[in-house]
Amino acid sequence: MGEALIDSYGRTVRDLRISVTDRCNFRCQYCMPEEGMVWLPRTDILTFEEIERVARVCVERFGVDSIRLTGGEPTVRAHLPTLVAKLAALRVGGGADGVGDGREDRREDGRGVDLAMTTNGASLRLMARDLYDAGLRRLNISCDSLQRERFLAITKRDALESVLDGIDAAVAAGFDPVKLNCVLMRGINDDEIVDFARFGRERGVRVRFIEFMPLDASDQWSANRVVPGAEIVAAIDAVYPLVAVEGRGSQPAQRYRYRDGEGEIGVIASVSAPFCGACDRIRLTAEGQLRNCLFAVDETDLRPLLRGGGGDEDLAAAIVANVGRKWAGHSINKVTFIRPARSMSQIGG
Ligand code: SF4
Repeated sequence: MGEALIDSYGRTVRDLRISVTDRCNFRCQYCMPEEGMVWLPRTDILTFEEIERVARVCVERFGVDSIRLTGGEPTVRAHLPTLVAKLAALRVGGGADGVGDGREDRREDGRGVDLAMTTNGASLRLMARDLYDAGLRRLNISCDSLQRERFLAITKRDALESVLDGIDAAVAAGFDPVKLNCVLMRGINDDEIVDFARFGRERGVRVRFIEFMPLDASDQWSANRVVPGAEIVAAIDAVYPLVAVEGRGSQPAQRYRYRDGEGEIGVIASVSAPFCGACDRIRLTAEGQLRNCLFAVDETDLRPLLRGGGGDEDLAAAIVANVGRKWAGHSINKVTFIRPARSMSQIGG
């Protein structure tokens, strides 16, 4: 085994989140204002070749074995299956032995990366098959209400039906598991917790409930609008008894299986039960900034290296330096917390 990306807290980086665009066709209230954002000039956005270069260094040199495509909304980027095929062709190399995190098999030299994407699902009806054929294997589809009018109120798009069709198209294309990401906001959609659980059980998709995080561009977030993970679990357990799944490792979601065997849910409790101690993620923004934490307040601009004649050694050195500055974790619940200058759509989930 070769080099590994290990931060000063002993955490090994294995997961690269790549934002392929800052643009989106939705306006989710926990993310961006109704009027949208000032989009990046297209010339600032990394090309597929530039994205592939950064990913190659991470995967083939440092043993990163998991890539997640995000946005904005990744499916609004033209020719997305072409990028998927480039990333699916990467072979995992390097990396640390890291025995016991349940991902040993992926780091066998020469194995492919675990390629996933987070999407609002509205275009999946048309794209699911092509993305699957290009090598994408896992999908998280965002859906924050099963009620048409409320979906419209949250996203400013009357698109619930196309998202539900997108879920069916993803299952039909062979994606497994298909996960449904639901951001819960107090007083907005927290009365749908059990409805979502039932939906997941009936459709065979894994619902992941996500605590509202202070990354909305409208700065509306407050702690009393967060529905804590424990409350979500209690609400479901009262109707569909749950049991916690052991061996979380570095996964953001704590998983719970239904006692009757009808599937499982996940809870991402970033605010009430942070999981930074086992974090293995870094992020690449659409314009080439490397971020070692979702809430990072500093970042490394890789674009001058990518467009200014920098070699893979230079890229590797910049990535190592960035990871070396990674903090222990976010401080959302502390007075020291500083909101990042970027909102969620400018970082990617
Ligand atoms: S907040 Fe930062 S350190 Fe914590 S889990 Fe998320 S990305 Fe990792």
